[in-house]
Amino acid sequence: MNLAALVHSLRCSLLHIENRLVQAAGLGRQLAPALAVHGPCLLPQLQPQNQNQDQEHDLEEAPETTPGLMDSILWMAAPKKRRTIEVNRTRRRADSKLLKVRTNIEPCTECGHLKQKHILCGFCYAKVNKETRLIRQQIQAMEGGPLRAPTVETMVLYEGETASEQDKDKRLVERPRKRPAWFSY
Ligand SMILES: [Zn+2]
Repeated sequence: MNLAALVHSLRCSLLHIENRLVQAAGLGRQLAPALAVHGPCLLPQLQPQNQNQDQEHDLEEAPETTPGLMDSILWMAAPKKRRTIEVNRTRRRADSKLLKVRTNIEPCTECGHLKQKHILCGFCYAKVNKETRLIRQQIQAMEGGPLRAPTVETMVLYEGETASEQDKDKRLVERPRKRPAWFSY
């Protein structure tokens, strides 16, 4: 018990001296917590090693679970040298890329527009197409539908034309205009 009492008295005196020193130095008031800086650790620490091992395990498992950002990029071929403008123009103006000279063009004997040989004239075809469409519209107005067409031959009559004796039984479509020169029988 004497030893314990001696230790206790020493501790009390040390605390007393410490308080006196702090008061003498002017640090008696409460100190606010200051900035805490992590210093170099000299002693070997087991816990951070365990954490590193865990991180390594995480890194090993990471590629299986979450693919990286670079994995989804499609790498395409890219030119390594710039081609000069001369090379580009030589390629663009090659003989194989120029327009071919056509020698099979002639004027249409009906309308005079230029057309390719042994090919139907587009202007004449459009005229006949338009007249045929008008005739069909008139037939639609006369009969009211394609299912009511009589099973006889059709004949188109223009202004100033009358059906002959043998054509009276045909289906006659009258057009209120003169017969065009290009619309033959
Ligand atoms: Zn023509």
